[in-house]
Amino acid sequence: MIDLASPFLKALLKHSKSPIVIFKVKPILVVVEHNDAYQALIARVGGKLKFYDIDIIPNLLSDAEKKNLVKTVQTVSELKAKRTLVIHPIYSNSPNVKWELEFSPVLQNDRPVEYLICSLREIPIDENDLEHILFELSESEARFRGFFEQAPLGMCVLKGPELITEYANDNILKLWGKSRKEVIGISQEEARPELEKQQALVKQQALVKRVKDIFKNEQPLTINELKLSTPVSDGYFIAFYEPLKNDKNEVTRILVIIKDITEQVNFKKELLKAKDILKIAMDASEMGSWNIDLESKQVLLSERAQQIYELENNRLGIEEAKSLISSEDIGHLTSGIRRALHHRNAFNIEYQINLNGISAKRKWLRTAGKAYYNEEGKAVYIAGAVLDITEHKQDEIRKNDFIGMVSHELKTPLTSLSAYVQLLQYKFKETDNDFPIQILDKINVQLKRMSLMIDGFLNVSLLESGKILLNRTNFNLVDLIKTIAEESGMVLPSHFIQVIGLEEVIVNADMEKIGNVINNLIGNAAKYSKKDSLIAIKCEMQKGYAIVSVEDEGIGIRENDMPRLFDRFYRVESPDTKTIAGFGVGLYICAEIIERHQGKIWAKSKFGEGSTFYFSLPTSNNQ
Ligand code: ADP
Repeated sequence: MIDLASPFLKALLKHSKSPIVIFKVKPILVVVEHNDAYQALIARVGGKLKFYDIDIIPNLLSDAEKKNLVKTVQTVSELKAKRTLVIHPIYSNSPNVKWELEFSPVLQNDRPVEYLICSLREIPIDENDLEHILFELSESEARFRGFFEQAPLGMCVLKGPELITEYANDNILKLWGKSRKEVIGISQEEARPELEKQQALVKQQALVKRVKDIFKNEQPLTINELKLSTPVSDGYFIAFYEPLKNDKNEVTRILVIIKDITEQVNFKKELLKAKDILKIAMDASEMGSWNIDLESKQVLLSERAQQIYELENNRLGIEEAKSLISSEDIGHLTSGIRRALHHRNAFNIEYQINLNGISAKRKWLRTAGKAYYNEEGKAVYIAGAVLDITEHKQDEIRKNDFIGMVSHELKTPLTSLSAYVQLLQYKFKETDNDFPIQILDKINVQLKRMSLMIDGFLNVSLLESGKILLNRTNFNLVDLIKTIAEESGMVLPSHFIQVIGLEEVIVNADMEKIGNVINNLIGNAAKYSKKDSLIAIKCEMQKGYAIVSVEDEGIGIRENDMPRLFDRFYRVESPDTKTIAGFGVGLYICAEIIERHQGKIWAKSKFGEGSTFYFSLPTSNNQ
């Protein structure tokens, strides 16, 4: 038995310069004695307690080291041999302090080991190591400073609840309008007295308090759209406040990162303003808006759109929405939207709806919109505007009916007049008197012009009321061009008309109406070019389409007139065209006829040099 109370042992322990601890191994591992040197060692690294039972002083060692210590003690007691162990006391102020613990068993004959003597030694850090550590430290500090300085953001570190600025990079200094000297080592409130004024200004009195609270609640803080007005900067910022902890897990500092988001905020404000203006414009024009979510297949209507459709709900399924469209128009509405989706462009379509599913109660609507795609290029929703055009449409229908009726009424006396003129021509041909024959020829030309114009109006009214029907047959387009060119040659002896290109192109189309188109284009080519100039008509094939072009050497068309050429009643206003008769419906009718044949019509021109008008038609084998 060892007598721990023996004065000899006590004196030995007390006078030993190396720190010594005596452990009792059983029943549990406890410290039964230690000397002053040990006490001093503990105090030097910031520890307060000596350890008695390693389980009740858990913060002395890390879990892994605790396990190691227990294992070492076991080995020493079982093998009755010395063992050493290196540990790092975790409450140490210095991260590089290490202790070497040497355990020696107190041997008492053959009895199991009851006590261990543990002497502790601080491991000296060799000089190279120290240099290396210092180098590493300065390197990482330089890296940190570099990152800090070069960051395109304002950054600073505030220490303690007094918010003393420890670091601040150039960006944040610029933002504060301060020099480094004015802020480093000084509390925020002292260094930046304007804060108080500014906070009152932006109603963020609580901000400093909230930042200080981070030391208590240890939670990061983000302040969005923080408005700052300093003599040097004025704008919106987003500020992140990140708590920084020491190795005892206490928040000692706050890392502040501030990013200028003035542009984004202003953009957002502009956007809101634009949205507002758009809303005013839409309200003023009584336009509604809608949105189709292609994934959920739900249609969402604005209040006005809901009124237009006279619905009780502003949300409905896509199939329900389709059922409101009149049966005549559902086809061209869906195919128009599908085409726009495919080509990724906008659509603008007129259609009728049956109110409450009753076809007798109808409205005419015009809708314009476009699809929006996700990153993978998939259409996710379609959005647009809708306008009730019933009144306008009814006016148009009345006007078309009127034009149709007047044109029709005008044609009857004109036909009689033509017949009388022909009779007179016939009569005078039997005499030798040339004068009346010449006059009658001129009357005939004018009658034909008048008749053509009236036909034009009749066609417009028929087209617009949808009463024009195509009478399709298969025929050789080149033959038709040649026949018309020949006839035109007789009517227009003033120009050279030439047909070039292919000999046979079979199309399935309305021969009479395509004839009207060719006639119109040749007529215009002659109307807008000088006497004796050339008109070349060509027929070619391109990707399953017949392409017909009518080229002249005339006055040409200015670039800014080009987009509206095919509009109804559009005429180029210039001194050259002033004296040329016309109503601006010819090209409009041509475009309508060609589009109904699933073809296209377009023009190219150089002002002062001539124009070429083209149209395409699908050929028979492309149908
Ligand atoms: P218009 O009855 O006025 O000829 P169109 O619809 O046929 O009506 O043509 C519209 C306008 O396009 C014309 O007023 C004219 O200014 C211009 N235009 C048409 N064809 C030609 C051409 N071949 N050369 C120059 N200008 C043309």
